[in-house]
Amino acid sequence: MSILSLILKCGGKRVPIYPLTHHVVLPSWVNQIVSHLHNSPVNQVGSGKGDYYVVENEEEKQSITDRAANTMFWTELFRGAGVTMAHIFKEPATINYPFEKGPLSPRFRGEHALRRYPSGEERCIACKLCEAICPAQAITIEAEERADGSRRTTRYDIDMTKCIYCGLCQEACPVNAIVEGPNFEFSTETHEELLYNKDKLLTNGDKWEAEIAANLQADHLYR
Ligand code: SF4
Repeated sequence: MSILSLILKCGGKRVPIYPLTHHVVLPSWVNQIVSHLHNSPVNQVGSGKGDYYVVENEEEKQSITDRAANTMFWTELFRGAGVTMAHIFKEPATINYPFEKGPLSPRFRGEHALRRYPSGEERCIACKLCEAICPAQAITIEAEERADGSRRTTRYDIDMTKCIYCGLCQEACPVNAIVEGPNFEFSTETHEELLYNKDKLLTNGDKWEAEIAANLQADHLYR
């Protein structure tokens, strides 16, 4: 009688199914098979004659018969093939980037931009709050007074390789001048290309103004 049939016959009770004597050493492959069927270490009780393996309860017995049936009838193989076939006809979860792009949150923090008013005047008033709050010290601003008495920057640099995209500069700005736009495709081949100056930032602002304004509008209720 095989070890499997012995185990299946024993029901849910602690039944001696493989008596041992002091002189019989159980082969390791038998231990491995029983361990695999139990899905746990072999439950061997005692160390002499009358030793036995136990199947503790009905659930465990059911589990053993299920696994044996699955192995014999390849049901897992057919179930796996069924899952594969079902997914062939479903819409794929992936997208064809870069030709397709996924949705972005209005709060997405991407490439920086300096915005202008509709009149074309730059918004930044050189208060330097962004420079002060930047934890990466990535922003450098120089400013001077114009002939009309207004204060404007003469230099606005961001080292994008220092920036950690925390968004604090945008939060600190009282006139929504410096913002992090939706653009995330600005990788470069050199470090120098990521040292942004005022012209670059204003150009970004002009290019992305529609998207940036829509994102700020979508988010204003939550501020
Ligand atoms: S996003 Fe953060 S780290 Fe980057 S420039 Fe603004 S404040 Fe500095």
